[in-house]
Amino acid sequence: MLLYFLAIVLICIAIEYCADPVIPRAKGTRKRRWPTNIALYVINTGLSAALPLSFLAVAHYADENGIGLLNWLNPPYGIDAMATVLIGSLSIYIFHRLHHSVPILWRFHRVHHSDNDLDWSSTLRHHPGETFFMILLQSATVFAFGLDATALFALLILHIGIDFFTHSRFMLPPRIERSLQWVMITPQLHHIHHSSWQPETDSNYGIDFSIWDRLFGTLNRQPLRSMDSFAYGIDTVDPAVSNDLDWLLTSPLVPDSTDWAETPEHARTYRP
Ligand SMILES: [Zn+2]
Repeated sequence: MLLYFLAIVLICIAIEYCADPVIPRAKGTRKRRWPTNIALYVINTGLSAALPLSFLAVAHYADENGIGLLNWLNPPYGIDAMATVLIGSLSIYIFHRLHHSVPILWRFHRVHHSDNDLDWSSTLRHHPGETFFMILLQSATVFAFGLDATALFALLILHIGIDFFTHSRFMLPPRIERSLQWVMITPQLHHIHHSSWQPETDSNYGIDFSIWDRLFGTLNRQPLRSMDSFAYGIDTVDPAVSNDLDWLLTSPLVPDSTDWAETPEHARTYRP
């Protein structure tokens, strides 16, 4: 798993260096962002290891004890695995959308979106609180539906690859991008989700397949404004603090009167 993880990171770094940037990178952003993003990943990994809960362990427990819908129905393995992938993928879409619409969840997920540039390292940038909520929500889903542990592991491997791929700073050739969008979340779709303008951020919630955004009307295939005015991050977060580890870790606990979640009317105003 560690080798796979490192290989994906190295491939994404190599692609970023070879490809044209989506928008010009502001000078020196790597120096400020990479240590912060990597530090958050180290904190998350440490806390996850300390937490005696993983959705794969929950899947094994539910399987051994016949708990959850699929374990009760006991369908043929192919259907069990396919249902696990579909339910796992849909639940990630729903949980991600919840993190944008429920103010307390958004304050934690805001840490991920406050990265004012985007590259492979943004994949690592999550508040430990968000990681904790996600583990709880995913474990509850696995328990309720009795999802299959092997299919879940395959989905996890797919998620890691796609997550790095869609955060990386490159664009696919337009024809490939258009074709792939019918099935998958692509770099362009996810870069739009990281726009600093909320109407664009409130779209493309999928992590793996684009079917859920298509089905629920949240697919946004093109930026709603020209790339000249496109920017990453959150325009209500001061760039001076957006890479400050102390601020990132403590900000979810402090209500922010200028934030999107706290001021919905303000957020809907177009600001080029
Ligand atoms: Zn998001």
